[in-house]
Amino acid sequence: MESGIFRQIPKMDRLLEGAAVRAEAEGLPRAEVRLAVRRELDRLREELAAGAAMPAEEDLDRRLARAVREAGQPRLRRVVNATGIVLHTNLGRAPLSPEAAEHTARIAAGYSNLEYDLETGKRGSRNDLAEQLLCRVTGAEAAMVVNNNAAAVFLALHTHARGKKVAVSRGELVEIGGAFRVPEIMRASGAELMEIGTTNKTHPEDYRQALESGAQAILKVHTSNFRVTGFTASVEVEELAELAQEYGVPLFYDLGSALPVRKELLGLPEGIFAGDAAPLCDVCCFSGDKLFGAGQAGIVLGRTEAVAAMKKNQLARMLRVDKMTLAAVEHTARWYLDPERAVAAVPALRMIRADGDELKQRAQDLARRLTELCPCCEFAAVPCADAPGGGALPGVELPGWAVAVRHGAKGADELEGFLRGRDAPVIARIRDGRLLLSVRTVLREDEPAVERAFAELEKEA
Ligand SMILES: *Cc1c(COP(=O)(O)O)cnc(C)c1O
Repeated sequence: MESGIFRQIPKMDRLLEGAAVRAEAEGLPRAEVRLAVRRELDRLREELAAGAAMPAEEDLDRRLARAVREAGQPRLRRVVNATGIVLHTNLGRAPLSPEAAEHTARIAAGYSNLEYDLETGKRGSRNDLAEQLLCRVTGAEAAMVVNNNAAAVFLALHTHARGKKVAVSRGELVEIGGAFRVPEIMRASGAELMEIGTTNKTHPEDYRQALESGAQAILKVHTSNFRVTGFTASVEVEELAELAQEYGVPLFYDLGSALPVRKELLGLPEGIFAGDAAPLCDVCCFSGDKLFGAGQAGIVLGRTEAVAAMKKNQLARMLRVDKMTLAAVEHTARWYLDPERAVAAVPALRMIRADGDELKQRAQDLARRLTELCPCCEFAAVPCADAPGGGALPGVELPGWAVAVRHGAKGADELEGFLRGRDAPVIARIRDGRLLLSVRTVLREDEPAVERAFAELEKEA
């Protein structure tokens, strides 16, 4: 009986001749098309075995065509972030500003002076390209860009603290994103971890005792993704800088998510400002794709000799960045020469600082447009809770606005899956059984993709 229904599936050659499949297969390697069809047929067989009915040949053609189209698309795709989480780690963290993206694409598509000094016509260093700018923006003496912030922490410790005892507060031995664990990175770098204080409280006296009993460096880590509340104490970087100087040991600071300016320049509720930390530390570092708003990178700031030694480290070559990353970092850093302009131009910052009334208006407008396009759903603008994400500003909730969607027949889960399955996937979240599209993180240019998704839903109904 089972094999009977399987035999109703047309032969491969006939399926490949289907009108829809042929249209999608145009320009694709034949082997890729066959593979996509074969995989989809496997899926169909599973469904048939589970009792599904054999689709009509036209429907099967359309279904296979869809699989062929999927196969022809890159796996890494642009998606619409309607989650309200600005620095969503799973969705690529910070989006570049269109200007930075355009500059990056131009650099990527041609030759560049990546390691060529245009003044002398001789070999140059990629390390010099963004350094001056990063120093001007942050006030640091020297700067360097590496693969990511984990690499920056590793390189700082490997260069300056290999075989040395490094004091770290127990309250700062964090794990970030499931893969970055401070103790592991330290071990890999050859530094010896000296845990001090307790999980909730570490006092200046704890650092002093550690230094008295042989600590040769201090590492401070921003506890990006959690917050200890209640009876807590930690030692601020200002005080650590004094202790480090008194004992003549280097001070390192992993800022995690940071802005490359000083605190008073931006009216954010709180946060980490590399411009405040850099003058106090031998080396501090932060992620390029968190609050800063460029691509994946680790921005290293520090004293001239300390950074120079890191550049000379043989391992720096393994951690170095490509021209595309440097293009994005330099272009983004430029905005911060005028911090107010950065807030308007860097998408992640603009989203975090978005005005509540404006969000409400956008949610209402979008709900109205979607109601026209897709009468099979009900749309309503509702308040929601957004978040900076990416370990920026832990515990901070951003009051936002979303379009809540209810479908006549489909549940929220099914709706969520439908939106996720579009050619331009729309990633939404479900709260209290309702599907929410938070407008804070939907880029203006991505709104048509949301509208298209609901127009398709209506067509299916
Ligand atoms: C995010 C984060 C890291 C890891 O940064 P990547 O750029 O993802 O490598 C390290 N430390 C802290 C405190 C962080 O918040």
